[in-house]
Amino acid sequence: MFIDGAWVEAKSNETRAIINPYNQEEIVQSAEGNREDTKAAIQAARIAFDKGEWANTPANERGDIVQKVADYIRRDKEELAELETLDSGKTIEESRADMDDIAGVFQFFAGLADKDGGEVISSPIPDSESKVVHEPVGVCGQITPWNYPLLQAAWKIAPALAAGNTIVVKPSEITPLTTVKVFELIEEAGAPKGVANLVLGKGTDVGAELSENTDVDLISFTGGIDTGKKIMQAASVNVKKIALELGGKNPNIVFADADFELAVDQALNAAFFHAGQVCSAGARLLVEDSIHDEFVEELVKRAGNIKLGNGFDDNTQSGPVISAEHRAKVEKYVEIGQEEGAKIAVGGKRPEAADLQDGFFYLPTVFTNCTSDMRIVQEEVFGPVLTVEKFSNKEEAVEKANDTIYGLAGAVFTTDIGKAEEVASSLRLGTVWINDFHPYFAQAPWGGFKQSGIGRELGKPGLEEYTEVKHIFRSKKPEPIHWFK
Ligand code: NAD
Repeated sequence: MFIDGAWVEAKSNETRAIINPYNQEEIVQSAEGNREDTKAAIQAARIAFDKGEWANTPANERGDIVQKVADYIRRDKEELAELETLDSGKTIEESRADMDDIAGVFQFFAGLADKDGGEVISSPIPDSESKVVHEPVGVCGQITPWNYPLLQAAWKIAPALAAGNTIVVKPSEITPLTTVKVFELIEEAGAPKGVANLVLGKGTDVGAELSENTDVDLISFTGGIDTGKKIMQAASVNVKKIALELGGKNPNIVFADADFELAVDQALNAAFFHAGQVCSAGARLLVEDSIHDEFVEELVKRAGNIKLGNGFDDNTQSGPVISAEHRAKVEKYVEIGQEEGAKIAVGGKRPEAADLQDGFFYLPTVFTNCTSDMRIVQEEVFGPVLTVEKFSNKEEAVEKANDTIYGLAGAVFTTDIGKAEEVASSLRLGTVWINDFHPYFAQAPWGGFKQSGIGRELGKPGLEEYTEVKHIFRSKKPEPIHWFK
């Protein structure tokens, strides 16, 4: 762990085995921090914010440090990608792409760091000047999940530092490796002591302390909805600013006039990329009834051909799910789907191949005969499980797509661009893709409507999350007003 500028073991000396989900082999023992370690990190961040220079360091200098992290990530890309694949099971190709994205995120926020010089606004009061400035929030707790371990951390670390905050980061306890490595890079880049702190350990210890501790000014969390609710409650103790990136059950709407090959290809990508463990996974497919049967036949054929395996093998198209516990959750949902009357068209079980028995593999699964009221359609499975429903017109497609507590992302496939735009504006989602699925980048904001979250990451709003807005009013001709004679 990295606390107050030093690499430390847990005060309790406890450690945790970090497991490769492909073969269940132990990769390393990591420090297992608890509330005491977390308090020490929060204290370091508090002092660095209140008494250190960081918040008042010229913004371009903060930007330089964040840019160096981007440069070092590019330099160490291969090592970082290998760590991510070992830790999460995702393919090495995907991990490499993640590292490119992550470097891009640090670069983007490095560039934004000195672009906001405040704004003079028009004042209705004569002989006065009003300006609006952004200032750092303070000590930020940042809690991340296991599916995109470093990517999710980058979305939080880069803007928080660029804006002049101090941070305490807690990665998922099961995938901490790349975040540890990036803290080495943050140290190498020259972040002052106490500005960036890393605590490893369980959500119920480290995460809960970050959420409850009154010396933390902002808590930013990416993870499941139930955890998000607990954090929101805990954060109320000192009315922390909160940013929540929660789950999704993301609709993918395919109209009969869509480019068939494009839509089938992207429906697979949407649902099965990274074994479906993507917050924006297109796990809920809506197909216009006139092409439904033909579309599902092709989709099922291709889903059945997805090559599972070791993420380091170039032929592998998808790795395992993250853990035994998570696979059990996926299996439970498949049981629920069957009980509800949905039909398994492909998958629905673990693979039989001998070389996949040691990993947490699950076959890409497609459910047909689904209806909107089913739990398998409404709840986030977060695994390689796709549900298919039919619709007969645009209005029905939109109604079904919006019939969920979530509102993260979704897509529409059609060659009628007018229809695409109309549907896009009717969807209650933070991101809508037209004739594509999954593209996201540092320049565009990311986040959810409804119960998919609060606030935005990435883009300009991603930096603003880490700032307070201040209005400074100056009288140019100060005079007593003698209201009270
Ligand atoms: P999770 O909620 O179980 O854990 C996320 C993090 O919260 C972990 O670091 C965990 O240790 C910590 N945590 C657990 N209990 C806590 C508590 N009581 N207090 C504070 N912290 C606690 O989620 P997960 O299983 O790691 O990740 C999967 C979830 O993340 C999915 O629901 C997925 O949709 C969501 N996700 C969302 C986005 C997005 O951008 N919206 C991106 C990635 C993942």
